[in-house]
Amino acid sequence: MRNLKRFSDTFGEYPSLSRFLVVFAVSGGGLVAYSEANNIQSAAKIDELPEAGGEKKRVVVLGTGWAGTSFLKNLKNHSYDVQVISPRNYFAFTPLLPSVTVGTVEARSVVEPIRNIVKKKNLNVNYWEAECYRIDAKNKKVYCRSSQEDKEEFVVDYDYLVVSMGARVNTFNTPGVEENCHYLKEVEDAQKIRRTVIDCFEKASLPTLSDEERKRILQFVIVGGGPTGVEFAAELHDFVSEDLVKLYPSVKDLVKITLLEATDHILNMFDKRITTFAENKFHRDGIDLRTGAMVVKVSDKEISTKVIKTGEISTIPYGMAVWSTGIATRPVVMDFMKQIGQANRRVLATDEWLRVEGTNSIYALGDCATINQRKVMEDISAIFIKADKDNSGTLTVKEFQEALDDICDRYPQVKLYLNNKHMSSLVDLLKESKGDVAKESIELNVEEFKSALSQVDSQMKNLPATAQVAAQQGSYLADCFNRMEECTKKPEGPLRFRESGRHRFRPFRYRHLGQFAPLGGEQTAAQLPGDWVSIGHSSQWLWYSVYASKQVSWRTRSLVVSDWMRRFIFGRDSSQI
Ligand code: FAD
Ligand code: MG
Repeated sequence: MRNLKRFSDTFGEYPSLSRFLVVFAVSGGGLVAYSEANNIQSAAKIDELPEAGGEKKRVVVLGTGWAGTSFLKNLKNHSYDVQVISPRNYFAFTPLLPSVTVGTVEARSVVEPIRNIVKKKNLNVNYWEAECYRIDAKNKKVYCRSSQEDKEEFVVDYDYLVVSMGARVNTFNTPGVEENCHYLKEVEDAQKIRRTVIDCFEKASLPTLSDEERKRILQFVIVGGGPTGVEFAAELHDFVSEDLVKLYPSVKDLVKITLLEATDHILNMFDKRITTFAENKFHRDGIDLRTGAMVVKVSDKEISTKVIKTGEISTIPYGMAVWSTGIATRPVVMDFMKQIGQANRRVLATDEWLRVEGTNSIYALGDCATINQRKVMEDISAIFIKADKDNSGTLTVKEFQEALDDICDRYPQVKLYLNNKHMSSLVDLLKESKGDVAKESIELNVEEFKSALSQVDSQMKNLPATAQVAAQQGSYLADCFNRMEECTKKPEGPLRFRESGRHRFRPFRYRHLGQFAPLGGEQTAAQLPGDWVSIGHSSQWLWYSVYASKQVSWRTRSLVVSDWMRRFIFGRDSSQI
């Protein structure tokens, strides 16, 4: 039987230490773990996994975020033994976290226990509350540490590994950030922010403080003008102007919200119209927006910023600071990248089928990985040889058209290039490079073919680190796993240009469904596919309906909607709990 294995040498090293027995009751079967009663180095031997039922391939999923949960929700095939490992026993609907920071929505309304999600599946799925601290790609094992106080360790082996453990906050090694700033990444972060905001108001209301101290305490600084920072600034402004001013009349005029952004504009990834609208709205609302300002140091009471253009350093005394400047790779993933020859990359790279480059049974999705799209120009000679069916050394239009679907399937940048150039087919591209020849008589040699396609790779773009991408990747991979057997027998992917045969699956394709930027005061900016932009109250209603519909369960959907209604009727709760 495929078992979880012990750390082989640990018992040997500490023979004299007393051992204790831990018995977990895991849904679906019993599990026994022995452990050294020792804090420095604990060990685990897990004798038995819940019966996997014959020769089931084991799939280990790391993480219960957008990517991992979407994979689990869409997995339908009963022929796998699925083990889920994550330090968080729930899924969190991150787009509503900024609302949680001020109590527009309650924390429990945006989370769903992962056991609830997998229970409904009726599949052989088992969850372990632990973090993976090492992936051993060579021996197909993951090393895990329990999230409980005793930090028990155990090791699980896999046939397939799905790495979906997200990313960590990027502080850019700025001194003092870790010690003094709040992050807005997890549910706990949002809860802490909520408590700290109220704390600042209560503290500033005490009779013992000087006016200057009060002003400092009520100075809220947000670092990072991306969607999260902007949305939090907007939520905080609403909270203050709609609820807190009534409750703290004596200090209401001292409140200041400052948003710092290192580049010239906030919401850089959005359409220019949205950026401009957001900047103007913040000015009207009295939010102090400082662009071109980079934070260089944070102390317990002051933030030092440098104006990028002039190099001038200034300080802002603050009461609460929220750091939201982007993400970086987790140390465990970095270590894994070193093992598989990706040490010189910043992010774990996969191919278009989400398989980690340099491995054959590990997949990575969501924020922890990026798809390393293959360039057409890397394979151009192989494409030419495959397409030139009669081995004449030249490509006719007919030969080319026959290979066209496979080329576009394998290299999506080709289609993008044609769309951007308003060309209906690749033949137009060939025609352009060949001059004024009638389409039918075009014939290209390899050099001409290379020059015709020389620009197509310019369209390659990395996908953004968003929930939308992560969720689509999760369901794509689940679909591949669901049809693994079928597609192994009858491959449905594009031609393999450098080898023989076809790819088993079609590559992953991202479908962008648009994005929102809530700006406060019941106004939201929406950028929908086709660069359709809508800003204002009507988009706010669209936002409400999309976010309600995207909830993972009817339970969270009803909780979120009732929170919104409660807020409309009674305002937000400002109790210090
Ligand atoms: P995550 O959702 O971060 O999940 C990672 C999982 O891995 C977690 O369960 C974590 O506990 C687990 N994990 C961590 N370490 C380990 C380990 N060592 N071993 C095992 N498991 C581990 N995107 C949008 O598209 N639209 C939005 O409006 C939007 N708003 C956002 C607002 C906020 C405040 C934030 C923080 C993000 C927002 N995003 C939004 C981005 C989106 O949340 C991420 O892109 C998405 O969560 C990525 O999914 P993931 O599964 O890769 O990672
Ligand atoms: Mg030919």
